Amino acid sequence: MSVSISVEDFTAQAAAWLEQHGTPKVADAMPRSIVWGEGDFSVSVFHALSFEDERDLLRDAQLWAAKKAEHGYHAITWSPEYGGLGLSKEHARAFARLERGYQVPPRHETYSVTTGLIAPTVELFGTPEQKEQFVAAFLQAELLCCQLFSEPGAGSDLAALGCKAERDGDEWVLNGQKVWSSGAQFSEWGELIARSDPDAPKHKGLTAFLIPMDLPGIEIRPIKQMSGGTSFNEVFFNDCRVPDTMRLGPEGEGWKVALTTLGFERDKSGDAADGSAKAGGSWSQLLATAQAIGVTDDPTMRQDLMRVFSHVRVEGFLNRRAADLAKGGTPGPEGSLGKLMWTEGMNLISDVASRVLGPRLVADTGQWGTYAWGEHVLGAPGYRIAGGSDEVQRNIIGERVLGLPGEPRVDKGIPWKDVPR
Ligand SMILES: Cc1cc2nc3c(=O)[nH]c(=O)nc-3n(C[C@H](O)[C@H](O)[C@H](O)COP(=O)(O)OP(=O)(O)OC[C@H]3O[C@@H](n4cnc5c(N)ncnc54)[C@H](O)[C@@H]3O)c2cc1C
Repeated sequence: MSVSISVEDFTAQAAAWLEQHGTPKVADAMPRSIVWGEGDFSVSVFHALSFEDERDLLRDAQLWAAKKAEHGYHAITWSPEYGGLGLSKEHARAFARLERGYQVPPRHETYSVTTGLIAPTVELFGTPEQKEQFVAAFLQAELLCCQLFSEPGAGSDLAALGCKAERDGDEWVLNGQKVWSSGAQFSEWGELIARSDPDAPKHKGLTAFLIPMDLPGIEIRPIKQMSGGTSFNEVFFNDCRVPDTMRLGPEGEGWKVALTTLGFERDKSGDAADGSAKAGGSWSQLLATAQAIGVTDDPTMRQDLMRVFSHVRVEGFLNRRAADLAKGGTPGPEGSLGKLMWTEGMNLISDVASRVLGPRLVADTGQWGTYAWGEHVLGAPGYRIAGGSDEVQRNIIGERVLGLPGEPRVDKGIPWKDVPR
């Protein structure tokens, strides 16, 4: 395919390809035209599945990515060197719009983390050998990779982390614990941030690695969450040895690598303008629910629904603007705005859905499309925390976008090992 193809010609080719390889949705081909009572009604934010079912769901996503990769549709904005098409975000959005009319595997966090966060991080920081080994494979989710960042004592204050990486000749010895590692149980690889120099101030003594998750000395323990599933894990490292060739980026530059991955996590500029491709329930599903329950004539309910609609529209415009400003570079602190809008919208939908449904939210009456909202309401708070909490995003916007005075930092410039904890 030519790299100078117009969006219109590209759309026509992509539509023909999807018609040949995909299965069109029946009742809800367009997100705005939900037929109440027909088909699936999924508004879940996280999967509440057994290990085997979740593994199968991920496999389906991998198979669909492999099918798209035959034509570069899995990585439309990426260069052909990595199997992409080298086209614009506008082309990618056009494909995503068409794809939403087809039955494709539901989104999975490990898939998005591997393709959208870690593949671009390796492209920026990897050695030529690492890029060759990982970038194309991560982009099409042939290999899956999780984030091994947070620890019991280091979440919002990620730079305080203490999982040790001690150099021993050409190897590093890892000891410590990670937590909330989404998808670690399904991943072949992990992007690890570890403490390599305890004598340096906290941000300076970190080093990043790309490590195989089946190394001797790694133990993965799933965590049961309140929505029923086990999306996260604790990961323990006990004298786990990794060669220096698995280091990602220079020694002591792990903070830069972590911030880059988090920047991609917070960047919502590639999201659909109507929010329909995201986790959890959408505006159109909420409206359909309110209509089915018969509350759309209630003036206060109409106000609530209008608030959600306005939020979703403004969020879409903001993401569009961010996409136009980003021009394909590394996302900066502005990404925090998009992340905040997204989580606030998700929680607003929770509030309004709860009002619309009343007791139906907690007591299963058997009525289609009602009790299912519990999976949205219980899952939405998770994304208020993941990738940096709302409060932390506000701090970033305050300090790095608006230039407000920084928070007091009592550990600034102090060797990490001397910081009281
Ligand atoms: C759904 C989900 C998926 C996740 N996936 C991963 C993953 O794959 N890999 C990984 O490494 N981690 C993952 N995490 C962990 C996530 O990054 C951390 O939970 C997050 O950074 C918050 O850290 P914490 O849980 O330690 O809370 P804390 O940092 O202890 O925060 C507790 C509370 O204090 C507030 N707070 C903290 N500092 C400040 C401050 N300076 N100013 C104002 N308020 C503050 C926070 O907003 C929060 O409300 C995931 C978390 C969730 C919920």
